[in-house]
Amino acid sequence: MKAAVVTSFSDPLQIVERDVPAPGADQVLVRLEACGLCHTDIHASTGDWPVQPALPFVPGHEGIGIVEGLGSAVTSRQVGERVAIAWLGSACGACRYCIDGREALCESQQNSGYSIDGAFAEYAVASADYVVPVPDGITSVEAAPLSCAGVTTYKAMKVARIQPTERVGVFGIGGLGHLAVQYAQIMGGSVVAIDIQQAKLDLALELGAEHVVNASTTEPVGALEALGGLDVAVVLAASPHAFEQAFAALRRGGRLVCVALPADGGAMQIPIFETVIKGISIIGSIVGTRQDLVEVFALHAAGRTRVISETRSLDDVNEAIADVLSGSIPARLVFEYAAVPVVPTTR
Ligand code: NAD
Ligand code: ZN
Ligand code: ZN
Repeated sequence: MKAAVVTSFSDPLQIVERDVPAPGADQVLVRLEACGLCHTDIHASTGDWPVQPALPFVPGHEGIGIVEGLGSAVTSRQVGERVAIAWLGSACGACRYCIDGREALCESQQNSGYSIDGAFAEYAVASADYVVPVPDGITSVEAAPLSCAGVTTYKAMKVARIQPTERVGVFGIGGLGHLAVQYAQIMGGSVVAIDIQQAKLDLALELGAEHVVNASTTEPVGALEALGGLDVAVVLAASPHAFEQAFAALRRGGRLVCVALPADGGAMQIPIFETVIKGISIIGSIVGTRQDLVEVFALHAAGRTRVISETRSLDDVNEAIADVLSGSIPARLVFEYAAVPVVPTTR
């Protein structure tokens, strides 16, 4: 099978031929149909973050494919089912976070395309209990971005506790942001989109944003204050400066939801006095649970969201990464895999 592999944090990914992996006892073998290119895959491939993946590894955590094989202990999934391989590759299922509905905080979790090989490949193995079934009525190319960009921003809007009529600023209208704009409205908010590329802001308007601010031509804090300030600011741009602008644009009682993950851990200057006087909350939000993804798929199947994407071949993974970094793409790039011969099932 073909796979895109990170072999060094300073070299391009390599397209290699590998054996199709065999599922472990509690795993499924998935023949992938599509996988989105999340900015996290780019951070992973350049070793941006304080905890780096072990080399070599296969990125990809927006994988959609068909179950082709079952490990000997698997009872929860069936051959032929279509499933998503998301960032939460597995968790312990027993710690306080796993049992109280916060499994994305499990300290024993594995992450697809980071601590375990992901879906930039024609086949992948994944924990049977942590893959999420994809309902009919959603194409695999649409389902892919929903599996990380969708679930992450849906969850971010949940933790922001948006009240109807509140003004929600979305900083960064890329893969995550174009879905965030839609979930904020579904939850009753009105949206202001902030980006440094006009094309992204035009897309946000098409998706229902009431106002846009181009932070490369306008000082965004003043522009947002002129609108009355933000009740919620969700930061999806991996720039510490954007986090500081978002904080400064909050009105009293505002919530800053931190989602993007700038290189080197990131640091922002937050004035304590204003945080206290204005009653500001600062919230970190990491992906979502399997149930959040079920809800994201249900919303999409019900026609409530639109996924904006362009498909590429996995052979062009390095050009795709360059295009994401240049900003010259629609919201999300998705690798679409040609149908490959079905391997015999293991059971
Ligand atoms: P993306 O590259 O598709 O989009 C980023 C957008 O931010 C682009 O539209 C870009 O033009 C815009 N931008 C850049 N600098 C800006 C600035 N200073 N002000 C306003 N906009 C700016 O990236 P993505 O795939 O949407 O991911 C965004 C970030 O979220 C990444 O850091 C990624 O690692 C992180 N992420 C976090 C989670 C989580 O669970 N917390 C999940 C997925 C991704
Ligand atoms: Zn992601
Ligand atoms: Zn756990």
